[in-house]
Amino acid sequence: MNSFVSASTVEAKPAAAEDVVRLVNVKRSFGDTAALDGISLSVRKGEIFGIIGRSGAGKSTLIRCLNGLERPDSGEIRIEGRDIVGLAENELQPVRRRIGMVFQHFNLLSAKTVEENVALPLKIEGIAKSERLARARELLDLVGLADKAKAYPASLSGGQKQRVGIARALAARPALLLSDEATSALDPETTRSILALLKDINGKLGLTIVLITHEMEVIRGIADRVAVIDAGRIVEEGQVWSIFGNPESAITKSLLAGIRPQLPEHVAARLSSAGGTEAILSVDLAGPQAQGALFADLSAAHPHSFRLVHGGIDHIQSQPVARFFIAVPTRDPGLKDEVEQFLTARSARVEVLGYDTDHV
Ligand code: ADP
Repeated sequence: MNSFVSASTVEAKPAAAEDVVRLVNVKRSFGDTAALDGISLSVRKGEIFGIIGRSGAGKSTLIRCLNGLERPDSGEIRIEGRDIVGLAENELQPVRRRIGMVFQHFNLLSAKTVEENVALPLKIEGIAKSERLARARELLDLVGLADKAKAYPASLSGGQKQRVGIARALAARPALLLSDEATSALDPETTRSILALLKDINGKLGLTIVLITHEMEVIRGIADRVAVIDAGRIVEEGQVWSIFGNPESAITKSLLAGIRPQLPEHVAARLSSAGGTEAILSVDLAGPQAQGALFADLSAAHPHSFRLVHGGIDHIQSQPVARFFIAVPTRDPGLKDEVEQFLTARSARVEVLGYDTDHV
């Protein structure tokens, strides 16, 4: 597994006096469809919080509820401590100004220059032209586009357009940046640079960021914590390294399939539920327990007890996240159980995937 962008630190950020976002049992249905079916979550000040789910999971509805474009049927939505659910439209305006939005398709005005696009939220607030253009220049500098101030969006690459989108989202000094699939229209390299920029802004400004995405690479790249949603519910939530190292739900495992080592297909195709010359085991280990020479120790305790088939060690938030597949000979009937016990005692999660019928 390759390191995607620089890992974030694993330590939980210090608890703030209040959470920037707090949802309590938020529900929203459309006819018979429960788009949000009791979502509760909290995002701390300065945190990068990822929300991931497949298409139809409820992500757009959640974002629309967060920025007050959609009203939930029930539940609490607190932004900087204030419940926005019962607010009238004119009361919502100041809350929306505390939230900067970054969109998948950038949503720039093509007839305006880059600096005018960035300054637009300030124009709406009635800030003087010289002041808003000075702020726009400052932000364009922050996102690495100082030389494009007078350019028009059509002359920019996708990555540059998104940098303008991010600068515009920051113009009114929001408390929260809401990123709605901000990298989904970008190639992998540009995605990495935009994620690195968001991480940089998070560090420099201490800005709280909520990322909505369907891509685990985005979560892996910069999020501190992640909530996996499916059918309007949170199915799993935790620190990113922990969820990557120990996914519980089928949906999380499936979202991770592209970026965790998988048993090679030709081996998987040979597996049967019994018989065979080798048992094939998956071995997962993450976090502080993953330090140390697990396989060297296994080899010393049980010589010739296994063969490495596939796998690797990733580092997420500075924590090792390891996933290996090993083959254990079946000729000694007790060996598989001994290997399993040894690894389990070292905090590894071990699963017998099947028996290889044809290994030579
Ligand atoms: P996601 O953004 O994760 O793809 P959505 O929030 O768009 O998910 O949708 C969640 C579910 O709610 C889906 O089943 C979708 O069809 C339904 N839904 C969302 N908005 C509406 C709407 N305005 N009218 C009817 N159904 C909707």
